[in-house]
Amino acid sequence: MRSHPDACPGAVELHAAADGGLARIRVPGGTLSAAQWDAVRLAAAELGNGSIELTSRANLQIRGLADGVELGERMRAAGLLPSWSHERIRNIVAAPLDDNQALVDALDAALCADPVLASLPGRFLVTVGASVSGLGGDIGLVGDVLLLAGTDTGVRVSDPVDAVVTAARLFQSLRGPAWRLSEVDDGVRKITAHFGTTDAPRLTPAVTPVAPSPLTPGVPLGRLDASQLPGAAFRLTPWRSLVVPAGTDVTGLITDPASPWHGVSACTGRPGCAKSLSDVRADVHAWVDAPAQTDASHHTHVPGRVPPISILGTRSDKPGAVHWSGCARRCGRPAGDVIEFVATGDGYEEIR
Ligand code: SF4
Repeated sequence: MRSHPDACPGAVELHAAADGGLARIRVPGGTLSAAQWDAVRLAAAELGNGSIELTSRANLQIRGLADGVELGERMRAAGLLPSWSHERIRNIVAAPLDDNQALVDALDAALCADPVLASLPGRFLVTVGASVSGLGGDIGLVGDVLLLAGTDTGVRVSDPVDAVVTAARLFQSLRGPAWRLSEVDDGVRKITAHFGTTDAPRLTPAVTPVAPSPLTPGVPLGRLDASQLPGAAFRLTPWRSLVVPAGTDVTGLITDPASPWHGVSACTGRPGCAKSLSDVRADVHAWVDAPAQTDASHHTHVPGRVPPISILGTRSDKPGAVHWSGCARRCGRPAGDVIEFVATGDGYEEIR
């Protein structure tokens, strides 16, 4: 059990990273208007290092900031920071292809209106919809099903907004130093008992990423440049991809399910992480951009390093997911079947 408060960054309270202040801008439900995206782009270019990261909770991050004061003002003016007191707990991930933003907005408003919930942990997560029900939310909604710690305990609800606020308040009263409901002894049973009427559990939580296409492009390594998608409205997904209107210029994004970028992820690496033994993202770009090897040795060489990095498995025969890390902590490793490459200081070690 952790005994210290979590240190999740917000748009105002920054994380001190090796490359400067890091801000996390919550986007409940992932929906961004064109004006909001332009506000984020300009802030990244004028206050940060010019790039915008997509997180696994469909939020945004800006790096290289001096402080969060001006960013906070800009995000508030853009409608992306409606509550100073609750900003870090506005973690609502929604199924991006469903019509659920109105429900998300109602949940967000109700959570922000309750002063007790301002001190929830920054790790607190609400999921809305079946395709994100397996992401491990503390509280989840799928129709009338109320998930608790990612499990269908049989609780059915008629007022989903009231049910989520009630469950969040109960979690807050029970949690002690815990950050997640799954860490609270008997927490799920106690909240289930509060709701009383239960049904036979019928839902198996799942994670169902949307496939890359011109309307749901992926973002290579989850990082956009401030010059991309000017004037575009879109929806962020928790799989570091976007749902865009037809006709959106998706240059530089992943639209082909057979793209060598599909399924490739990486940790922050240098220069953003002081622990990193390598500029991981640059190495991954070199690996993806290198000509595919078809020889019997099945080795791909990443150029530009001495000695060259030799990696078993070519891009053509790699599995669904490949994750690269700058040190043995292996941050951001996706769940499931994944091949990993971990920096050692003079190359990468493969872990299967
Ligand atoms: S895996 Fe290591 S290098 Fe990469 S972000 Fe985590 S701590 Fe930093």
